[in-house]
Amino acid sequence: MKHTGVMLAISVALLGGCQTQPETTTAVVECNQQCQAEQFEQLSERMINELWQLSPEWAIYQGKYEFAAKLTLPNQQQRQRTQAFVDKWRLALTNVDDGVLAASQQTDKALLLNIVNSMEWEQSRFKSWQWNPSQYNVGGVFGRILSEQWGTEQQVLQAVLARMLDVPEYYAVARTNIDNPTKQHTELAILQNKGSLAVFSQELLTRAKQSSLSVDDKINFEQRYFETRQAILSYISFLEQTLANMDAKPARSFRIGESLYEEKFSFDIQAGMSANQLYTKALADKDRAQQQMVKITTELWSKYFTTAMPNNKLVAVRQLIDHLSAQHVQRDNFVEEVRQQIPELVNFVNEKDLLTLDPTKPLIVRETPEYMRGFAGASISAPGPYDNGGNTYYNVTPLDNMGDEEAESYLREYNHWVLQILNIHEAIPGHYTQLVYSNNESSSLVKSLFGNGAMVEGWAVYAERVMLEQGYGDFEPELWLMYWKWNLRVICNTILDYSIHVLDMNEAEALDLLVNQAFQQQTEASQKWRRATLSQVQLTSYYSGFREIYDLREEQKLNKGEAFDLKDFHQQFLSYGSAPVKQIRGLMMSQQ
Ligand code: ZN
Ligand code: ZN
Repeated sequence: MKHTGVMLAISVALLGGCQTQPETTTAVVECNQQCQAEQFEQLSERMINELWQLSPEWAIYQGKYEFAAKLTLPNQQQRQRTQAFVDKWRLALTNVDDGVLAASQQTDKALLLNIVNSMEWEQSRFKSWQWNPSQYNVGGVFGRILSEQWGTEQQVLQAVLARMLDVPEYYAVARTNIDNPTKQHTELAILQNKGSLAVFSQELLTRAKQSSLSVDDKINFEQRYFETRQAILSYISFLEQTLANMDAKPARSFRIGESLYEEKFSFDIQAGMSANQLYTKALADKDRAQQQMVKITTELWSKYFTTAMPNNKLVAVRQLIDHLSAQHVQRDNFVEEVRQQIPELVNFVNEKDLLTLDPTKPLIVRETPEYMRGFAGASISAPGPYDNGGNTYYNVTPLDNMGDEEAESYLREYNHWVLQILNIHEAIPGHYTQLVYSNNESSSLVKSLFGNGAMVEGWAVYAERVMLEQGYGDFEPELWLMYWKWNLRVICNTILDYSIHVLDMNEAEALDLLVNQAFQQQTEASQKWRRATLSQVQLTSYYSGFREIYDLREEQKLNKGEAFDLKDFHQQFLSYGSAPVKQIRGLMMSQQ
């Protein structure tokens, strides 16, 4: 009895102790909140560093070369390490209470959880390591190590030397992993691995011989260099044999089917709806865009043609687009024209008060540097998460290297009107503006590494719409016609991708959709078909992000009525960084 009494007394004393020190308790809670928020930052940093050790290749693509000397073997042991990483960090993240985190940290946490869940799904359910032979290719990472400026010549060559040691083993493991691959990914793997042989050129060998590597290292370098080339070549022959065997026994389909598609869509897009729901919206939007185009064409027809408008309305739309596309900038003027449009976009955004542009972060328009000129076009380059400072550039590739015919077709595509839409999309208030907000307001390593692509693309597509709605270009019907064509492309990307992977759409049907119903050129359409057979879901990101942002805005308008302010909406939306739209939506709704 007495014994028990003492126990009780101790318990009461402990409880009493807490109750009699309210200040201390409060202080502990406050510290917990602040400390836990700080602890979350440390936790996410530790997780990211561990990820770079798990996958040095992933790190290299993000500009981190610490573990560049280690080639990851795609073997069972690596898959076990990956699963252990997933289990460890999923638990750690789940244990963090959302309540102690700021909005931006909550979205960081969700992004990190999505990364680990999607790694697990990719490995144990999607299993593209079995059916996609193009996953095995050492060329890209070696190419990057050799071409980026990250270390001394000695360090670069040492890393290459060390990595080459495991290349034969790497391809041996690849061969045992591959099980009933698709024809399309096998063909791609052959093509790309042949391309990788260019990285291991005579030039590289000469570079090593002329370097300050030791005599022994030079001997090893030469030997491993030949073994690497041999390993790539024998992987190519293995794939060619696999391809030849497909004549006897049909290969796995490149179509992933409904369940895998929905699962991949939920990881990669993180939308507030299913892929099927998005597809249904896209079908309706396609009809709507076509109707708008027919309406505009009917109004404009007699302005440009003396003949009667064709009965087939879609044929008429195509004829008018072809006719208008002749209005384009001269090829030598391409970069200069883009440069001149930027201040006009800035003025318009300021005049209409669409959002606040930071004048201290000007966008620098430049000709795309030579080493980046893989393909024609325009892009934004921003300093990566591991570069400090640095400018943001709008790279515009001059048409110097194009033949006359190629240049003409390119200029018709980016005609007088489409070029303006492109600048809105890439620069202001599109990608560049979103990037500035994302870096300023919610600077987060997590988001710059794992930001949501659908939100980023969706914002740029939304920017096109809001500028035209607000009267950019004075509601010129020609500009709207080109806008709808541009928008139709984004809508049809979603329809195409879903239809191919889930609804068994064939190539003829795909080309009909893109050429006859979305007014694209045959070449563009064929390339799109090929891209959709090799990738899954990514093509839906533009439309998905756009649709969700647009719907959110309309919902807020309805809820707030007179009190709705477009500028506030834009600024609040952008303030959360590159998080999935559904999460931004949740945060915006909770703050009302
Ligand atoms: Zn022309
Ligand atoms: Zn874009």
